[in-house]
Amino acid sequence: MRYEGKIFRPPSEADAYILQATVGCSWNRCTYCDMYSDKVYRERETDACLEDLRTAAAIAKNRVDKVFVGDGDALGMPTDRWLAILKAADAGFPRLRRVSCYATAINILKKTPDELAALRAAGLSRLYIGPESGDDATLKRIAKGSTFAEHVAAAERARAAGIELSVIVLLGIAGTERAREHASATARLITAMDPAFASALTTTVVPKTPLHAADPRPLRAAVGGRDARRAADHRRRGAPHRRAVPHQPRVELPGHRRPPAARPRDDPGDHRQRDRGRGDPAPRVGPRAVAPGPSETCSQEHV
Ligand code: SF4
Repeated sequence: MRYEGKIFRPPSEADAYILQATVGCSWNRCTYCDMYSDKVYRERETDACLEDLRTAAAIAKNRVDKVFVGDGDALGMPTDRWLAILKAADAGFPRLRRVSCYATAINILKKTPDELAALRAAGLSRLYIGPESGDDATLKRIAKGSTFAEHVAAAERARAAGIELSVIVLLGIAGTERAREHASATARLITAMDPAFASALTTTVVPKTPLHAADPRPLRAAVGGRDARRAADHRRRGAPHRRAVPHQPRVELPGHRRPPAARPRDDPGDHRQRDRGRGDPAPRVGPRAVAPGPSETCSQEHV
């Protein structure tokens, strides 16, 4: 099993075996994201992926029941490569019950309905997709690459193939200027996409991203105050926070106040404490991965 660079996965894939079938993100333009900014997108050789699967199966054949295929939008791989990987995963892990990956509306819509149905039949059962907003002006501003209508069309195509969706939206990504439009359009988008799961995460302005370099003041205002204190509190306690690299430097905001004292460890409102009790957040097989999504607003603890 070989891995390149930092590995990200959704919180609910904490105990999945992670197969890095692609390196980086084929889109890699979203203005707030630096998850794969240090990688040039490419697909790994199918033989190398199959060898990794065989190695993982030799080590943990009966312990793996979920496989997460990385990196940033692995659905973009050609369907024949996907089918080879899904077949090998099915053969290697007798207890396998889910194969998932990140996807974008772009690469869902590049697959035909028949291709998606073939992938579902071969075992691909969940896609994580982050439209982040339903507001087309905001989607354009953050260079998401797809509109409200395209996200809905992609969701319909995936659901028609029987693939369940986990949709991620970003609180604060529209800044103060379009907060209302963002809130109402995002609610409409989630309804229209009709996903099995939806998560609302909090925006972090990550240094060196285009969002940070452009004009972060409206956004910083939107994610300041209570949210900023919560984010700082998470970072201080070691929690990864929204699609951010681990150990990211704290963004100092003008007029920022010190975060409140940490809540008691048995506070039922602290989902990380709750999650810790459920087991090791690291994958059973593979590198220690970074969950890009958890925040205090994360409702994504579906297994
Ligand atoms: S948010 Fe997702 S689609 Fe956008 S650049 Fe980052 S990994 Fe790629």
